[in-house]
Amino acid sequence: MSNGLYRPEKRIIGLMGGTFDPVHYGHLVAAEEACYQFGMEKVIFIPASKPPHKTGRDISTSEQRLEMTKRAISSNSHFTISDMEIKREGLSYTIDTVRAMKEIYVGWEIYFITGADAVLEILTWKNVEELLQECFFVAATRPGFNLETIDCKLGYLSKDLLAKIKTVEVPALAISSTDIRQRVREGRPIKYLLPEAVEKFIYQNKLYHN
Ligand code: NAP
Repeated sequence: MSNGLYRPEKRIIGLMGGTFDPVHYGHLVAAEEACYQFGMEKVIFIPASKPPHKTGRDISTSEQRLEMTKRAISSNSHFTISDMEIKREGLSYTIDTVRAMKEIYVGWEIYFITGADAVLEILTWKNVEELLQECFFVAATRPGFNLETIDCKLGYLSKDLLAKIKTVEVPALAISSTDIRQRVREGRPIKYLLPEAVEKFIYQNKLYHN
């Protein structure tokens, strides 16, 4: 310290953004790994109300996805959940969420965790440059994901902004929500791909059956 002032290190919070239709072990491992690697105090799961790019496909209701996510994280003391995007309704723009969280967690460093495939589309998101000035991104990669595609696809961003995008390798992301929905439709097993409480909820509420 050169100026004699004590500056505590910044506290870090993770925001885990996704549709979570349904939430599965890949998501949970990704959040845990990001939390560990970047020294987050906690990770807030934020199910999207209606992702801006999904105006076509039917997704489970916000309440169902919120409930499944609550059940999935219940045993982890540093995971919590926010219904902020669901309450806001309409399209879930990440910039609005990050700004709202900054008002609650004043002075904290924010890391927005989501899938690497979603991050590759970030140039199409609302206010992308401001977004990358406001927070860091953690792109959770699936097995087989080529890290170079981030530089190739997002090369338009300045070096400083590109440096705000971190990656975390998550082998458990071989599990995917799309595959789980398809398995349910076809009557194939989903056991061990997601927490038992979420599996039960899916069958009890007949989700993803045609
Ligand atoms: P998506 O297009 O459904 O997902 C893209 C890929 O990323 C999928 O393979 C998905 O796997 C994976 N993924 C999604 N969330 C993940 C997570 N938290 N951890 C690990 N992998 C994840 O993406 P989405 O879920 O709708 O959107 C992701 C986030 O980006 C949401 O918070 C959404 O609101 C935000 N977003 C914002 C804007 C904007 O502000 N304009 C635009 C688009 C997205 P699974 O299907 O297995 O999850």
